[in-house]
Amino acid sequence: MQSLENKIREFGNVLSPTVLKVDSFLNHQIDAALMMEVGKEFAERFKDVNATKILTLESSGIAPSAMLGLVLGLPVIFARKRKSLTLSDNLLSATVHSFTKNVTSEISVSRDFLKAGDQVIIIDDFLANGEAVRGLLSVVEQAGATTVGVGIVIEKGFQQGGKELREKGVRLESLAIVDSMDTDHITFRQQN
Ligand code: 5GP
Repeated sequence: MQSLENKIREFGNVLSPTVLKVDSFLNHQIDAALMMEVGKEFAERFKDVNATKILTLESSGIAPSAMLGLVLGLPVIFARKRKSLTLSDNLLSATVHSFTKNVTSEISVSRDFLKAGDQVIIIDDFLANGEAVRGLLSVVEQAGATTVGVGIVIEKGFQQGGKELREKGVRLESLAIVDSMDTDHITFRQQN
């Protein structure tokens, strides 16, 4: 997606050989117009999958997922990283190790919102080693639902997550794939 690649080139900051900071439009401040374009692009790519729900992980997956939900007219569920008084039982849970925070946490979704028979599109902001998506895939499976696609805003193609998901036969759509990056230059994978 050209406008997303342009935005990453202009505003992305390569913090280390493996960490890209995009706080000005995705992870802190949100460019809502760009997120709407992202939602439309996901909707186009997943138009044939007959989804019934969209599932993401708080917090940075919420903006692109909400836009996709608007375009497709579908409910959006975000897995929570902390339990609370209002989210404590009847849960589907998985353990996820965070790439950027280097902590392991339990993610949870209420069984009220994800049911057997649901056809789910999983969305996240970044794909690195695939831990977050693996946790979300597990939550969908525990519900007896089916994952019909995984949509990622920025995949780092030099890490293993994307390769592993494609090898497993998961339908993976990444709107920008960074094949290499350093402080001077970011190279994107050509996609048709
Ligand atoms: P994974 O679980 O695939 O290893 O990592 C994906 C998760 O870690 C995403 O939910 C995202 O929040 C975070 N993440 C991974 N790599 C990056 C990165 O380079 N930049 C930012 N901002 N977040 C990242």
